[in-house]
Amino acid sequence: MKLCIDAGHNYSGFDTGATGNGLKEQNITFPVCQFLKNKLEQAGITVVMTRETLTQNLGTSVNSSLKKRAEISNNEKCDYFISIHCNAGGGTGTEVLILKRGGQAEQLAKPVLQSIVSRFNLRNRGVKESNLSVLRNTDCPAILVELAFIDHPSDAVLLKNQQEAFADAVFLGVMEYLGLPVSSESANIRSFLTQKWNLSHPDAVFALLDSHPYASDLYQKIYESYKRS
Ligand SMILES: [Zn+2]
Repeated sequence: MKLCIDAGHNYSGFDTGATGNGLKEQNITFPVCQFLKNKLEQAGITVVMTRETLTQNLGTSVNSSLKKRAEISNNEKCDYFISIHCNAGGGTGTEVLILKRGGQAEQLAKPVLQSIVSRFNLRNRGVKESNLSVLRNTDCPAILVELAFIDHPSDAVLLKNQQEAFADAVFLGVMEYLGLPVSSESANIRSFLTQKWNLSHPDAVFALLDSHPYASDLYQKIYESYKRS
């Protein structure tokens, strides 16, 4: 299983992303993709990144930047292509774009969308058809995830502070589509605690807790104490 993860837009020059609330889209999509890459790799999935560093620029124009992303996926013979973006233009919420309904892209898009919407209680804008370059030029099923609106005040707060949680939501949606187990109960507890504690870097916190010799008992006890209270 090989996934191509595309951090939308270039760092500078051409094909830079939307801006809003002091944020730049390309500087949000990259860390989200890096978190997503780590999670997928931990689950045994091979990941190809289109942008490999935050400051990397692809192509020599908007068109060639977009074509390059599909080309990387096609050359690596990836099984799925996931492009991560932030929306703009005055709305709010999450949507996932696909080239055409009725295929695997739509099947992948649905759980990814649902996972993000329910994690953050964002407006569900649905799965939409769109004739975008990266969707059209990729050989494999491809989706483009618009996480939330960078020019909407409360969406932007999430985009700024919850990048790892966005990655986790996409990850869980992908795993659901693939029918792969997410280390079951502990994933649910982690997701619960991430929200409860409003963690912006849950992996760092859980890595610390995991170093405890009775980590899984510890999670269970904390979880249960919340459930009782
Ligand atoms: Zn974008």
